[in-house]
Amino acid sequence: MSSPLLSQMPINTRIEQHRVSTARHITTTHKDERADPQDISLLVIHNISLPPNQFGNNYIDDFFEGKLAADAHPYFNEIHRMRVSAHCVIKRDGEIVQFVPFNQRAWHAGLSSFQGRSKCNDYAIGIELEGADHIPYTDIQYKVLTQLTNAIMQAYPKITLGRIVGHNDIAPGRKTDPGHVFDWPRLRQSLTPVKSL
Ligand SMILES: [Zn+2]
Repeated sequence: MSSPLLSQMPINTRIEQHRVSTARHITTTHKDERADPQDISLLVIHNISLPPNQFGNNYIDDFFEGKLAADAHPYFNEIHRMRVSAHCVIKRDGEIVQFVPFNQRAWHAGLSSFQGRSKCNDYAIGIELEGADHIPYTDIQYKVLTQLTNAIMQAYPKITLGRIVGHNDIAPGRKTDPGHVFDWPRLRQSLTPVKSL
């Protein structure tokens, strides 16, 4: 059979008005304004799965929207009141869900610091991969993350290759995501750096 797989078809991911053209969009109140909307200069990669290590449901969407059902799983009772979010989630099947436009501040990094500057949420974009530290990510997640990161670097040129980090890098000792299975060389080698003019 020669019918093309969805994952092999060209996808033109663009950012328009701080929104990803190929994403499903959900609104959340878990966000606020950036002090300086021009100050977008760091990309933070995370992982999340709800319940932990389980994939393929809509609990992450519910969590970032603030409507996670406390009684749906014992773990949810601990976390359902947390007010957190990310700009985008990349699901196991490559779907992008966007919760917060990039010019606004999502609440993903928490207590954090990069190169001596704290409060990374102020100036960072946060992308969550549906995943867990010890479970390999899917090929389509790497492919979509590459496309999305390239589009982000185009739209926000202060985000250079050296300013793409893991949550563990900006909150060492407190956070471990995206985990030891995340293949940083694979991501870095697949990216297309923006040529400086
Ligand atoms: Zn994280």
